[in-house]
Amino acid sequence: MANEQLKEEIIQYAKTIGIDKIGFTSANPFAEMKARLKMQQDDGYQSGFEKGTIEERTEPELHLNDAESIIAIAVAYPSRMKEKVANKRGRRRGSFCRASWGHDYHDVLNERLELLATFIAARVPGFRYRSMVDTGELVDKAVAERAGIGWSGKNSLMITPEFGSYVYLGEMITNIPFPSDQPIDDGCGDCTLCLDLCPTGALVAPGRLNAQNCLAFVTQTKGFMPDRFRDKIGNHLYGYDNCQVVCPKNSGVDHHLHPELEPDPELVKPELLPLLSISNREFKDKFGQMAGSWRGKKPIQRNAIIALANYKEEVAVDELIRLMNEDPRPVIRGTAAWAIGKIGRPDGFDAIRSAEKKEQDPDVLTEMKKGLAYEQVMT
Ligand code: SF4
Repeated sequence: MANEQLKEEIIQYAKTIGIDKIGFTSANPFAEMKARLKMQQDDGYQSGFEKGTIEERTEPELHLNDAESIIAIAVAYPSRMKEKVANKRGRRRGSFCRASWGHDYHDVLNERLELLATFIAARVPGFRYRSMVDTGELVDKAVAERAGIGWSGKNSLMITPEFGSYVYLGEMITNIPFPSDQPIDDGCGDCTLCLDLCPTGALVAPGRLNAQNCLAFVTQTKGFMPDRFRDKIGNHLYGYDNCQVVCPKNSGVDHHLHPELEPDPELVKPELLPLLSISNREFKDKFGQMAGSWRGKKPIQRNAIIALANYKEEVAVDELIRLMNEDPRPVIRGTAAWAIGKIGRPDGFDAIRSAEKKEQDPDVLTEMKKGLAYEQVMT
């Protein structure tokens, strides 16, 4: 009974510190997930960014030996920018997905979980906890689902009745046995829009994602981007949220509840061309506070080159030639060579031919051949 009252106090306090939804569940193992995770692993559907073994991902007690319950939290983020920026020929822009808008949500949610822990510690002697936001071992979505935050959609995202899937999730394993909340019913019904409209077929079955084909994951890799994804990423620099945008449960959902999560249009829709020459320091100063910068500048620059090629942005060719000739990173030299060919400015092909004579890297040479192949298509 005492914990029932504490739970209510925590719920009330959470509202005052910018937590939009909170739920409680036991710290029992997520036994039913083990087989699913094993299947993902065996089928090669994981992203490779997952942390920990299957046991560590499903057994809260491995992270807090006297674990009794888990508090799940959700913080809503906006889906529309209040200010728009023009995306014109000659000054084309790329885009960061919504989950990278505003200040890095890992910091924001960890800070809120710390406040919550301080609140509980002041009331419960011997309180112990362990918090996680996205990068921890536990599967945030599975915790949130069992704690009644929302249902696990066919698009493999957590969907809340109040905020759609535009929520960040986090959790705190505690040694307090709070009464559990009930999971809520699945709300997808007969809808299959996200599966039907996924451009790469990455949603292989309802709720089953092959991360290797998911464009959100593909934008975060560091090597050459496989050819089959290059047209499909369009102008996306980081992440891809089509499966959120098409979801009817997100229709009209746009919550602006936290100033720190508001997007700066110049950061989330940056001009592409200046990104090609940005220094490490400038990149860190400008984009370092965003969740989308966690993989560093190389994938963003590679994606910016591909976006310029997709726009056929002729004014970018001089800078792409410079990168092809001078950049020490093979991924950047090679992707630039491919992009020069795809854009198709006549002097670009001559530039590729002359760079080809000096190039030693076999992967870059392959990209140069792909770039030159566009010449035949055009003649
Ligand atoms: S698009 Fe339809 S099927 Fe997919 S998550 Fe949304 S409601 Fe569920």
